[in-house]
Amino acid sequence: MTSAYQQQLVQQLRDSEARIAAVRALHQSVDGLGYHEDGRYEGDRLACSTCGTPDEYAAWWPCSTIRALDGAPEAQP
Ligand SMILES: [Zn+2]
Repeated sequence: MTSAYQQQLVQQLRDSEARIAAVRALHQSVDGLGYHEDGRYEGDRLACSTCGTPDEYAAWWPCSTIRALDGAPEAQP
């Protein structure tokens, strides 16, 4: 038998996981245009579908949001 507190914790966990999944659904990898700083468009790089655009204003994949969700060291404050 679970207590009301345990049930509350389980519900909070489910709510948190659903919100994380919603954030991941927004930040998908898409084909970028391969922009290079010297102005060339060459090769294919993955860009985030939400952060920026696929061109020179792209946020390359994985974006900082996905790195933070994945717990990447560079995403730590
Ligand atoms: Zn993103």
